[in-house]
Amino acid sequence: MSEIEIVQPEDWGFNLKKPLMIAGPCSAESPEQIDKISKGLQGAGVDIFRAGIWKPRTRPGSFEGIGKEGLEWLKIAKENLNIPISVEVANARHVEEALECGIDILWIGARTTVNPFSVQEICDVLKGVDIPVMVKNPINPDLQLWLGAIERLSAVGLKKIAAIHRGFSNRYITEFRNAPEWSLPLRLKEMVPDISIVSDPSHICGNRECLADVSQKALNFGLDGLMIEVHHDPDNAWSDAQQQITPQTYKEMVDRLIIRKSIDSVPELRSDLASLREKVDQMDKQLVEILAERFTYISEIGEYKRLNNLSVFQKDRWKEVTDSRVNMGVEKNLSEDFMRAMMMAIHEESIKQQEDMLEKK
Ligand code: PEP
Ligand code: MN
Repeated sequence: MSEIEIVQPEDWGFNLKKPLMIAGPCSAESPEQIDKISKGLQGAGVDIFRAGIWKPRTRPGSFEGIGKEGLEWLKIAKENLNIPISVEVANARHVEEALECGIDILWIGARTTVNPFSVQEICDVLKGVDIPVMVKNPINPDLQLWLGAIERLSAVGLKKIAAIHRGFSNRYITEFRNAPEWSLPLRLKEMVPDISIVSDPSHICGNRECLADVSQKALNFGLDGLMIEVHHDPDNAWSDAQQQITPQTYKEMVDRLIIRKSIDSVPELRSDLASLREKVDQMDKQLVEILAERFTYISEIGEYKRLNNLSVFQKDRWKEVTDSRVNMGVEKNLSEDFMRAMMMAIHEESIKQQEDMLEKK
C-alpha cells in the first residue's frame, strides 16, 4: 500500500479548527428537533453538525432512522449554525442520497467499518467525489480493519479523511459501553501520522456521567477533537437516550475542558524538553544494553538445559523471578501491572530463544 495522503480538516474548505468539535443528535427525528438542537448550539463553537438518518441497530424493532427525508432537515442546522453538516453512510445508496442532498461530510459507522465489502461499495461510489469522510473504528479492537477502510478510501482518490475513535465492544460489564482502548487510536496515528482522530465519548461512555472525563482524557492523549451527541430532550430521544446531553450541558462541559497543545504548535517548548528527552534516550540505550547482556546469560542457561536434557520452562523459578521483580518495581513506584507485563514479555522472549536452541541442535 502506498503512502496515505491526508488533507487536514483545516483544509477541507469549511473554516474548521482544532480541536474539531462535532455535535448533534444521535438521530434526526423531526425538523423541529433539528431546529431546537441547532439553535441551542449557537455560540457553542461547534465545527460540524452531526445527525444519523440511517441507524444501524443491533436488533430490529427499535428506531432505525428516519431515512432519506431527514437529509433535508439537516439544512435547518446548516442555516442556524452556518457550519457543515454530516451523516453516517453504510452503503452505496446512502452515499448517493447524501451527495444528492448536498451533505458536506460523511462518516462510516463502526458496524460498517468491520465489513470490507460495505466499505468498498461506499468507496466505489465516492471515486472522483471531493467530500471529506470520517471513519469510525470497527466495533472490535482490530486496527487492521480501521486502517483497511482508510486505505480503501485513499485508493479511490479521497484525501480529506479523518478517523473517529468510538471505543470497542467488549464482553465484560464495565463502566463503558465501548472500551476506549486508548492505545489503539494512538497506534493508528503511528501508522497514518497525518490523520486527525476525533474521539466519540458519547458512544464510549453510553451514559452522561463519564462524558466529561472521557472527553478530557481524549484531549490529554492528543486526539484532535470530539464528537458528542446532543439532544434538546435527551431522555425522550428516539435512540441512545442515556448518553445524549442538552445543548446547555454541552456548552458547560466544553467550557471546562482543558485544551492541550501539540508540541509542534509551540516550538519554543521543544528546547525545554530537549535535555529531559536526551536523558530518556540515554536511559533507553542502557536498557537495551542491559537486556542484551541478560539474554546472553539466558542463552548460556539454554545451552546447559540442552546438555542436561532439562525442559525450558521451570515453573518454580519463574514464579520466584516474577514475584521478586514485581516487588522491586512496586517499591520504586512502578505499577504492578506494568512490572508483570514487562516481566512476561521478557520471559516469553527467553522461552522462545531457549526453545529455538533445543530445536536446532
Ligand atoms: C452513531 O454515531 O450514532 C452511531 C451509530 O455510532 P457507532 O457507529 O459508533 O455505533
Ligand atoms: Mn448514537
